[in-house]
Amino acid sequence: MKIVVIGGGPAGMMAAYAAKSENPEAQVTLLEKNEKLGKKIFITGKGRGNLTNACNTEDLLEHYVTNPRFLYSAIYDFTNKDVIKLMEKGGCRVKIERGDRVFPVSDHAYSITDCLKRYLKKSGVNIVYNTCVKSLLISEKKDSDQILRYVTGLETDKGHLNADRIIVATGGLSYPSTGSTGDGYRFAESAGMQVTECFPSLVSLDVHEEDIRMLRGLKLKNISIEIKDEQGKVVYQDFGDLDFINQALSGPVILSASTHVTRFLNAKDPKQHKILTLHINLKPALTDRQLDERLLRDFNTYRNKELRNALSDLLPATLIPVFLKRLEKTGVDINQKVTVVSKESRKKLLDLLRNFTYTIAGTGNFREAIVTQGGVSVKEINPRTMESKKVQGLYFAGEVLDVDGYTGGFNMQMAFSTGHLAGVSAAKA
Ligand SMILES: Cc1cc2nc3c(=O)[nH]c(=O)nc-3n(C[C@H](O)[C@H](O)[C@H](O)COP(=O)(O)OP(=O)(O)OC[C@H]3O[C@@H](n4cnc5c(N)ncnc54)[C@H](O)[C@@H]3O)c2cc1C
Repeated sequence: MKIVVIGGGPAGMMAAYAAKSENPEAQVTLLEKNEKLGKKIFITGKGRGNLTNACNTEDLLEHYVTNPRFLYSAIYDFTNKDVIKLMEKGGCRVKIERGDRVFPVSDHAYSITDCLKRYLKKSGVNIVYNTCVKSLLISEKKDSDQILRYVTGLETDKGHLNADRIIVATGGLSYPSTGSTGDGYRFAESAGMQVTECFPSLVSLDVHEEDIRMLRGLKLKNISIEIKDEQGKVVYQDFGDLDFINQALSGPVILSASTHVTRFLNAKDPKQHKILTLHINLKPALTDRQLDERLLRDFNTYRNKELRNALSDLLPATLIPVFLKRLEKTGVDINQKVTVVSKESRKKLLDLLRNFTYTIAGTGNFREAIVTQGGVSVKEINPRTMESKKVQGLYFAGEVLDVDGYTGGFNMQMAFSTGHLAGVSAAKA
């Protein structure tokens, strides 16, 4: 049996290894268009490779945003514990950090790729570099009353290859410089399969307000956010840390938020678009009463100062000028002595602390998105095998699928789990 895996990312490497382990007689070839395997792995986890998450396996599925139920069989076929076991057995020792994130002890993402490469070589997978797959070859035959479609091979930039099974693990569209240029979507479409619209996800959010320029580098810890649509309906809320980057918002709460709003900002169909505002509560841990008491205490400490010089205990220094400008716009005199600030002005200050707002203009693009949302429709894939329901012998694994998760190692875990299931199923069939 000839099995060809397209794409040497985490999903493809795992699929090739699993296929060869399941059926050592099979001839397994892994085709990668780059000069090396796992180019994207090198940049994961800021170069440290957050390869999975050590949460309870039962809790893993909660961390996927799109089509989590589709992943049930794949995750249980090859769990986060299995990933850790395989890595450690293969010489890549791992450690668990904050939020149960799992990293190689070496703190180098390339340890993951090196480990998988050792497994591939040892098991006898034929790795072919610098080879780009251009198209799939699919034939038809009559099977009783039905027309049966099945794979026969593929065309690469180096020539033709026969295959009994093909596993497409070409990744999504994010960071195309790593080789993920959406080729798998074309392959799926050419096989008559549906591909859902793709959006950049786990990505920064752009805003309209100009004052963001003054906040570059600011990190807000333990804030809460709400994203509301034009009707005031909350479409996302979260608590955590937020970063101001070059004219955009980023950081954990924003990356997670992006997965829930990207389609409202980027959909081709303008009817799906929403005008979204982001509301930052700068002091979520305090009730209104506690916050007012806190303000009064600060005003007492700075009783000889003007309001504009009395906020240094309350807010980070970079934020104060921007905050004061916004406060002034509500009609509060920031030059008055704190001793004469009225209850009404204090209320306006409190409201601004609770509701520091930005209008979302869009998201960052695929060049900077951590993952792609959307992809090969899971409705057309058997979740127990990862095989296409339309073409026999054609399998899909990893980010090319219409599945995506939050940060924390969940996307790589998904690639490993679906890759493993696709490999085992292809080799068995
Ligand atoms: C900056 C960044 C940081 C990230 N950090 C993390 C993290 O810490 N933890 C985590 O879980 N996830 C992280 N991710 C996401 C994670 O890297 C991806 O979800 C994962 O790599 C997807 O694996 P994959 O094998 O499906 O696809 P990919 O890793 O994209 O691999 C696809 C491979 O297929 C090859 N290919 C494509 N088309 C062809 C073709 N036509 N012929 C031959 N080969 C082809 C490509 O060259 C590529 O090597 C991060 C992503 C980015 C961009």
